[in-house]
Amino acid sequence: MSLDELYREVILDHYKSPRNRGELPEPRIRIEAANPLCGDELTLDLAVRDGRVAEARFNGRGCSISQASASMMTEAIKGKSFGEAEHLVREFTRMMHGEEPEAPDELGDGSALQGVAKYPVRIKCALLAWNALKQGIDEAREKGNSDRA
Ligand code: ZN
Repeated sequence: MSLDELYREVILDHYKSPRNRGELPEPRIRIEAANPLCGDELTLDLAVRDGRVAEARFNGRGCSISQASASMMTEAIKGKSFGEAEHLVREFTRMMHGEEPEAPDELGDGSALQGVAKYPVRIKCALLAWNALKQGIDEAREKGNSDRA
């Protein structure tokens, strides 16, 4: 099995059996995001405690890349501090621009999406969940959930 095939398997697995699908009870941070170019939709719920992402859940529909990416993201960021989560968003975004991630392991299964960088039209699909995460962390900070407590 080639690396591309292996990555494809990982992506399909997350698409067919999404991790952390669903919603969180209040209090939560909820972000609605969409990628009209492809028709992807995503609702991301975050539970934040003490400057960390304690829980993440998502609901959505759209292409396999967008939904698999959301599933991978919710796994990768669980328990991470806001700063660590933002670092992962930057790493994932760099990867989508064709750069090698500094530490692919940090992205968990998300590193399987590396090949998407070759398909510009799909990059927005892959980034949808990660941009929603960044937005959620910004909102958490505005609400006073400092990560310097
Ligand atoms: Zn898409």
